[in-house]
Amino acid sequence: MTEPRLLPTVDPGQSPARVMTIAGSDSGGGAGIQADMRTFALLGLHACVAVTAVTVQNTLGVTGIERISPEIVAAQMRSVVSDIGVDAAKTGMLASAPIIDAIADTCEELGIGGGREVPLVVDPVCASMHGDPLLAADALDTLIHRMIPLADVLTPNLDEVRLITGIDVVDAATQRDAARALRDLGARWALVKGGHLRDSEVSPDLLFDGDQFISVDTPRIHTPHDHGAGDTLAAAICGALAHGYPVPDALEFAKGWVTKGLQSAYPLGAGHGPVNPLWRVHSPD
Ligand code: PLP
Repeated sequence: MTEPRLLPTVDPGQSPARVMTIAGSDSGGGAGIQADMRTFALLGLHACVAVTAVTVQNTLGVTGIERISPEIVAAQMRSVVSDIGVDAAKTGMLASAPIIDAIADTCEELGIGGGREVPLVVDPVCASMHGDPLLAADALDTLIHRMIPLADVLTPNLDEVRLITGIDVVDAATQRDAARALRDLGARWALVKGGHLRDSEVSPDLLFDGDQFISVDTPRIHTPHDHGAGDTLAAAICGALAHGYPVPDALEFAKGWVTKGLQSAYPLGAGHGPVNPLWRVHSPD
């Protein structure tokens, strides 16, 4: 495992690489666009946002959601790309089928994802760690048929793998089956995260591009404070892609980044605290 480092920033006055997160807001600041923005900033990137939904959320769970109109989500994407430009993009909480359709149409229009010029990381967020739905019940098919074919890297956790493929990942063989199934749905690189295989002492992730299986294992960090870990991993992959890393190197970098964030995760509120993307600032050595 490569020690994750702060990726090189640019000289004063020079423009950094640009990234865009298309995701929901977490008022508690642990996940969603807030986690993405922190990670991108610490990777020396300029971070742009297309907000899909505002969640009312603290460390105990999500108690309300207001969705942004599909037109305004698409307009945010067009506004950013037409002026600022993006070197890599990521999707997180997409909330509803009409929002997904608008995002997929706009990605196709703007050359984002699907092997086009701007790489896209799709984190197929369905629910929070507390089980609160972050995707409408009728939107799963749209997520599968519109977003997965656009995913240059798809990053489901095991619950999301089960919802998307019907495969229950319990070991290395079923993890490979799931990676094949996600590729068959159109993802260029399928990442089956093993972090929820709780009986393992490592967190075994499997990356597959239809040709080679690449395993990246990191030590399992036992902490209740892992809110936002999935977002942070996908954001770190996206950030490394914006810096020009190939996908396997981006994953290795991102796993190291999240492992450090989990090692320094902090309690917050009465529930689950967040993975700490500020680990690099809090403990620079
Ligand atoms: N809230 C928002 C807005 C998110 O985007 C996400 C994950 O993507 C979550 C909450 C869930 O994070 P966790 O599963 O770590 O609770």
